[in-house]
Amino acid sequence: MAPAEVLADNARTCTAGTTLRLSAPEASQGSLLLIELKSAKPLAGVQGDWGGRTVPMWREGTDEAKRRGLLGVDLEKAPGEYELKITGETASGEKMSCSVKVPVRQGRFATERLQVGKEFVEPSPEQVKRANEERQKLRDIFDSATPERLWDGPFRIPLDGVTTGSNFGKRRILNGNPGSPHGGADLPGVTGTTVHAAQRGKVALAEELFFSGNTVVLDHGLGIYTFYGHLSEIDVKAGDVLEAGTVLGKVGATGRVTGPHLHWGLTVERARVNPMLLVKLLVNSPEVPPRKKSSKRRTR
Ligand SMILES: [Zn+2]
Repeated sequence: MAPAEVLADNARTCTAGTTLRLSAPEASQGSLLLIELKSAKPLAGVQGDWGGRTVPMWREGTDEAKRRGLLGVDLEKAPGEYELKITGETASGEKMSCSVKVPVRQGRFATERLQVGKEFVEPSPEQVKRANEERQKLRDIFDSATPERLWDGPFRIPLDGVTTGSNFGKRRILNGNPGSPHGGADLPGVTGTTVHAAQRGKVALAEELFFSGNTVVLDHGLGIYTFYGHLSEIDVKAGDVLEAGTVLGKVGATGRVTGPHLHWGLTVERARVNPMLLVKLLVNSPEVPPRKKSSKRRTR
């Protein structure tokens, strides 16, 4: 099924000759919408804005009049209606703009109530200090966006043979105190299972962290990052550029976990979204690649 067949028709305002389509008429917390923009004329520059945050937009294929984008809705974004604004210029210098109101619904996430010993709820002051420093380090990474798109084509689930992930958005209430929601999808796997890069990207972080144990963060460009946690082994180092599917480490149970699995996260312009949705959204290229010179399709 091509994404174009499921695109819904939102109320929107666009300058003449421009159409904007979204993969769904509304979004929910932690979800992701695919944007398809088509202009009557070739486009030069295009920028997207979603409540003050940049929306990653790119040209895929050879059609200069088309752009794609990803609208990431953070897991904890307050439900309501938000304006998506896309502005730009055509190659001949005319201004172009589109705006659409996108409703954000509350996400449906599981809640788990646990009673555990105090030592599991209250980390030591040193552990708190370490965890805070690491949180800031991750925030600094997610706050920066590499301007080039480093990937091309669809994203894959990092474990072979796995088709579902669980626990995204799940809220844990430990001894009556709500913790922060689970920001990724947990993929089943035994210790030692190879973990593959979901797409091409540059290793932004490869080290042991307090909560997520041995962790790799991949920068795919345009503010899009994937996160791989609890690894038993890391096979890459910061700065490496990995091709799609490269083995970056092995499944494990490092960090604060009860058993081996892969914690897989996705951040789009700082919004924590369900990574499983990205795999589904980018399944098809927007157009058939040209037959000649098929090796030169990368556009940026
Ligand atoms: Zn997890």
